Amino acid sequence: MRILVGQLNTESHWFSKRNTNRSDFQIAEGEEMVSAAFSPGFGLCGILSAARDDNIKVVPSLAARALPGGPVEDNLYFEFRSKFITAIQKTNVDGICLDLHGAMRSVSVSDVEGDLLAAIRQNQPDIPISVVLDMHGIPTPDICYNADIIVGYKTNPHTDTEACGAKSLRALVDMITNSRRPVRTAIRLPFLLTANDASASGPLSEAHRAARIAENKIGQLVDLSIFNSHHFADDPAMGQVLVATTWEDPCRQTIDTMTEIGNALWEQRALFRGSYASVSEVLSRARDENHPFALGDSGDRTLAGTPGDTTGILEMLSERHQGFRSFVPVYDPIAAQKCWENENCSPASLPVGGGITPGMRPVSISGTVIRRFDGKYIGAGPYGKGISYDMGPSVVVRCGEIDVFITSKPPATHDKAFFQRCDLDLNDYRVVVFKSGMHFIANFDDVLTCVVVETNGLSSFNLENYPYLASRPIYPLDEINEIEILPKIWRRPTTEGL
Ligand SMILES: [Zn+2]
Repeated sequence: MRILVGQLNTESHWFSKRNTNRSDFQIAEGEEMVSAAFSPGFGLCGILSAARDDNIKVVPSLAARALPGGPVEDNLYFEFRSKFITAIQKTNVDGICLDLHGAMRSVSVSDVEGDLLAAIRQNQPDIPISVVLDMHGIPTPDICYNADIIVGYKTNPHTDTEACGAKSLRALVDMITNSRRPVRTAIRLPFLLTANDASASGPLSEAHRAARIAENKIGQLVDLSIFNSHHFADDPAMGQVLVATTWEDPCRQTIDTMTEIGNALWEQRALFRGSYASVSEVLSRARDENHPFALGDSGDRTLAGTPGDTTGILEMLSERHQGFRSFVPVYDPIAAQKCWENENCSPASLPVGGGITPGMRPVSISGTVIRRFDGKYIGAGPYGKGISYDMGPSVVVRCGEIDVFITSKPPATHDKAFFQRCDLDLNDYRVVVFKSGMHFIANFDDVLTCVVVETNGLSSFNLENYPYLASRPIYPLDEINEIEILPKIWRRPTTEGL
């Protein structure tokens, strides 16, 4: 059996003005994309290792992935799409297994994954296709119609990406071997989460537990995923979406289970609203309590696609909370370049940050460059173990008590391996700021008191800040008292024998 394997993976922030471009992507083709070094931490890695274990012949196509960011440049996406189509046309395969995200857009194509799958279907109407999606993907009609098998991540922080890749490949092999014709069933609940979005605790954990029990109990159920939807998009399919892949039309038990989980989530929707501590509150704690703190900058989470250029916390630390040894990342390619080029430079009044996020202003810093760093490291995890990060040429400027880390690409410092690679000692700091709202906790809660703080920026959870239209009505922006849970069923017609 021969399976064409590929990856197209990034999460797009519709409202960010920093488009995602070629330099943000890690791209590999052919044999390079199947090398063990390329894909740890991704669904692709799980697909490849399951294929190796099960003696399935892999036909590599293209792998392209980027950290979340603004819309992908159109030409780049069209180039990726035609590379996939060419690879598919060039070879005879029994099926296609893709590691996708589910919330990627280009400047003009709002549903990239749906568009890509539809383009593949135009060329290969009957070929079995299995996809892995991030649980923050948005299962649009084009995705649900064109993919035969959909496997979403089940954990947040995402620690099961490789397991989901393996599952997706094995289900595809089963489909081909046993000539199955899978069916997708989706239930959409019109609400967004602004808190309690971890999968292992709180109300979501119950929903995931029920889904796992159902997968074990119901023979026809290949996968039951709960998609939480990326917030910073505007698509009618957004919300909390349950997607089941079954080997034939969903039986009563599958529909009843999905409806029960959906009803329970809807009933609990108010529990998914939350507020976060203020920066000054947490800085006061950091002053009073004798242990180091990590602050998650909720308004500027680069793993949600923001640029990482907000300066609110930096401003507070420099103006009102002097006396902390602290570490603050900020995206500013011009300032980074300037400092990078002049070794041992001591910039005076260097404006940093605030270039992209609306309403943010740069902060002036003065200090000495103490590190020049190529911005590259491999994640040690637990979240993101094996993932290679590239923040571009970056510098640490020591400004009194504050070390300002200025990057050429959005900062991704949410891993201890970064501090090691940059030769910084975490023990030196009382306050470490992360442009992260979730994943830093998985990687640092053994050494730092991790608190997510309320800040302004393009990933603030004040949803009324965003120009949502197509996705409305949606709770909590709109009061919705009652919903009717109606499963949508997606089957593909066959052209065989025509
Ligand atoms: Zn995600």
